[in-house]
Amino acid sequence: MTKYIFVTGGVTSSLGKGIVASSIGVLLQARGLRVTIQKFDPYINVDPGTLNPYEHGECYVTEDGAETDLDLGHYERFLNVNTTQANNVTTGRVYQTVISKEREGAYLGKTVQVIPHITDEIKRRILMIGNTGEFDVVITELGGTVGDIESLPYIESVRQLKWELGSTNAIVVHLTLVPYLSAAKELKTKPTQHSVKELSKNGLSPDVLVCRTERHLGREMRSKLARFCNVDQNSVIEAIDASTIYDVPILLQEQQIAQIVLAKLRLSAPGKADIDEWKGFLKRLKNPKTHVEIGLVGKYIELQDAYKSILESFIHAGARNQCRVSIRPIHSEDIDEENCSELLSGLHGILVAPGFGHRGVEGKIAAIRHCRENEIPFFGICLGMQCAVIEFSRNVLGLSRAHSTEMAPETPYPIIDIMEDQKDVKTKGGTMRLGSYDCSLLEGSRVHAAYGSTEIKERHRHRFELNNQFLEQLEAAGMLAAGKNPHNGLVEAVELTDHPWFVGVQFHPEFKSRVTKPHPLFVDFIAAALDYKESGKTVLKNVEQY
Ligand code: GLN
Repeated sequence: MTKYIFVTGGVTSSLGKGIVASSIGVLLQARGLRVTIQKFDPYINVDPGTLNPYEHGECYVTEDGAETDLDLGHYERFLNVNTTQANNVTTGRVYQTVISKEREGAYLGKTVQVIPHITDEIKRRILMIGNTGEFDVVITELGGTVGDIESLPYIESVRQLKWELGSTNAIVVHLTLVPYLSAAKELKTKPTQHSVKELSKNGLSPDVLVCRTERHLGREMRSKLARFCNVDQNSVIEAIDASTIYDVPILLQEQQIAQIVLAKLRLSAPGKADIDEWKGFLKRLKNPKTHVEIGLVGKYIELQDAYKSILESFIHAGARNQCRVSIRPIHSEDIDEENCSELLSGLHGILVAPGFGHRGVEGKIAAIRHCRENEIPFFGICLGMQCAVIEFSRNVLGLSRAHSTEMAPETPYPIIDIMEDQKDVKTKGGTMRLGSYDCSLLEGSRVHAAYGSTEIKERHRHRFELNNQFLEQLEAAGMLAAGKNPHNGLVEAVELTDHPWFVGVQFHPEFKSRVTKPHPLFVDFIAAALDYKESGKTVLKNVEQY
């Protein structure tokens, strides 16, 4: 029978529930258990696809094309498994289902209420994953903080489920904060006590307490927390601030969290914990032999979470190359042709990020020109690739007014144009070209060398595409369509023939990079940045040409 672990959060948001849930998942998986993680988000949006990245960080896309919360990225990166539509559910989605059932008459005239109808729908979505029989353990993270009005139906659903399934089949891991007051030189347990009390007001009590803290808890502190929060002494786990999120599974393992959870769930794991690969990754990450600096050009750089998967992919690829990758975020709106040599000086590679709309596009194009003309490794993702094609069309093909019809509907040279099947799409949520599609890579191309294969699958999230009417012209001038969808001919990757590493991809490789399986394009890009650094060309060339 599938076992359930619910992860709740107390005291404040941003304590890292996603990382704790993922770390527990890694440790259970390391014992040979089949684990998946699901997240409930208490907001009313049906999914985060329509949310501005400033609001909620990156929108993560799954194989099956769900637009999800960025925590799903952590789950996939940590566990090296694919999640699906079912792994991320919002309050909006729950209500949408219940309301459409009500419109269909499914409730036979009953008054539709939070209890039982909304809670039943939440429970159905939790059990739906467990009932597939594919997993030994389902970890469900409840977004938000205990005590929020929005969280109440979720807490109530977990209470009911715990009762229905029995306490050895479902447990609650509660993540809280134990703050250190420097004036008093003391760690304080009161906020944790309050959040546990809040939880128990709703009929739920934690089985395991994970305490975020800046200082070690000490035995006395642990027993105080255990006593006041009604948990076993060994079930008070410290989650001390770590230098990287990838330390968290190891820190939790040292406190035997997996054994504690398994005992509470009366679950015997088939194997001994095997996390050697993870430790190997950490060792490489922490002992870099060299260093490169990469520019990240985007328009949401004020908020690190907006490019979460890209930043994590660089960490994975850096570790693989035993190279520390530092990222210099550069606001695309700040760049122009005059200042770009100065702003981008000293970088060993530049990634131009995905995005939507007009803001910052000219800055991206200027940065790309700088990379192309100075042979600096360039990696363009989605809008970053589209901008590379626009730049090439303007400055190499001489089509000075070339543009994407997303930004300039009237352009005489619609180098990037809306996809045929997107033309009639009116509603915004979940209607882009989303999820995994096949791509065939050109033999002998750079991308082929990086992947070591000609047939790949990558995830997408876009409405616009390279306009194939211009492809012959582009290829004749040295911009190759190195990757194409084998079924409809859409160009999915471009590269320059006379440049050491200039690659643009219409898809999002960052969604498939994993701790134990870094993405080949990121690995190759970092290797190219290292070559570039070692070639000694990093110093500014051609400054006067602008
Ligand atoms: N705005 C572009 C499109 O819709 C690129 C999207 C992206 O970068 N994710 O095609």
